[in-house]
Amino acid sequence: MAKESLSVYQHFNDIVGGDCGFITTGMIVMTNEQGADALRENVKMQQAQGVHTHLLNGSEVGQAAQEYNGEGVALACYEPDAGVADPMATTHCFAQRARDFGSIIREGVVVSHILHENSRVTGVRTLDGDIHAPTVVIAANVWSGRLAQTAGVTLPLTPTRHPMLSLRRPNDFGGRHGIHAVGLDITRQIYLRPDLGGVTLVGSTADVLAASDPDHYAQGISEEEITFFRANAAGSIPALARAVPRGGWAGIYDDTPDYHPILDRLEPYAGLYCAVGFSGHGFKLSPQIGQWMSTFILTGSKPLDMQHFAYDRFAQGQQIQPRYPSGVLG
Ligand SMILES: Cc1cc2nc3c(=O)[nH]c(=O)nc-3n(C[C@H](O)[C@H](O)[C@H](O)COP(=O)(O)OP(=O)(O)OC[C@H]3O[C@@H](n4cnc5c(N)ncnc54)[C@H](O)[C@@H]3O)c2cc1C
Repeated sequence: MAKESLSVYQHFNDIVGGDCGFITTGMIVMTNEQGADALRENVKMQQAQGVHTHLLNGSEVGQAAQEYNGEGVALACYEPDAGVADPMATTHCFAQRARDFGSIIREGVVVSHILHENSRVTGVRTLDGDIHAPTVVIAANVWSGRLAQTAGVTLPLTPTRHPMLSLRRPNDFGGRHGIHAVGLDITRQIYLRPDLGGVTLVGSTADVLAASDPDHYAQGISEEEITFFRANAAGSIPALARAVPRGGWAGIYDDTPDYHPILDRLEPYAGLYCAVGFSGHGFKLSPQIGQWMSTFILTGSKPLDMQHFAYDRFAQGQQIQPRYPSGVLG
């Protein structure tokens, strides 16, 4: 899914239209002995899918991504085609393309209920009145559970809180216009995402705090979190020891029990679908998700690979088994 979506990001203006801010940076994943087998297996699987990635030992880390520290790294992998995009710009481009095809996007309108009659969805109730529709797709991130519940459907979603620290890199490390590879340091439980303006965002891959109420959780970042991110960022990229914190924030994930999304119709209602549970990695997959969901809704038949993401896999004991304990990374 990531591979197919990457190709859309790389040719975004031709396929979707507009500038999604995609920059090819390369991506390095580093682990100690404990995570080495999982990394080896994932790289094997990705290579079989045609992803351009290869394994490295610790001493080769600096050759692939010169800013990273390979000391203590048992195994790493590097994907030169990987990159970053601007999520806000991407969302606006998708929205504009949808409008070009006749979609009406109503912002700031809260949906309160799913409407249904005789096992058929009939629309949604909003705080601004009812909207009648033969097809409804629930795609409201962690707030989807509440909506599905109004039709008596339970979605297995857990909100978890994920903080990030913004670091202004020292000027001799690429300056304001520099960029570096994305990094995932499994041992230190952090990821590093380069941004424009000389900034690196540092986030945690640790199984972070459950945020019981997605409307009320600590959206700021604590002193302890800043200390953790600064110390570990400097461990992964030594130049970041001289970086200046520029504040941070915490967002929310909609985790499913196997950290993979639910892309399906919701029985018993004809016309009711969901695309939820992205568990912290929905942005990069979004082009493929849109493609699959529209194919499924328009043709009634599920693309083969989409079948892994069925709603009933949890009840059927067919959960997907992620190789890392903290789910899917990157
Ligand atoms: C700190 C952090 C880092 C991340 N890093 C990455 C990454 O590196 N790579 C990656 O792929 N993903 C990443 N993600 C995850 C990614 O951001 C999400 O998976 C993705 O944005 C989910 O998209 P979505 O469309 O499901 O939800 P959203 O983008 O949240 O859209 C849901 C929309 O539904 C609206 N909504 C909710 N309830 C209602 C209602 N009742 N009525 C009307 N509207 C409603 C919301 O306002 C929102 O606009 C990260 C997330 C966080 C928090």
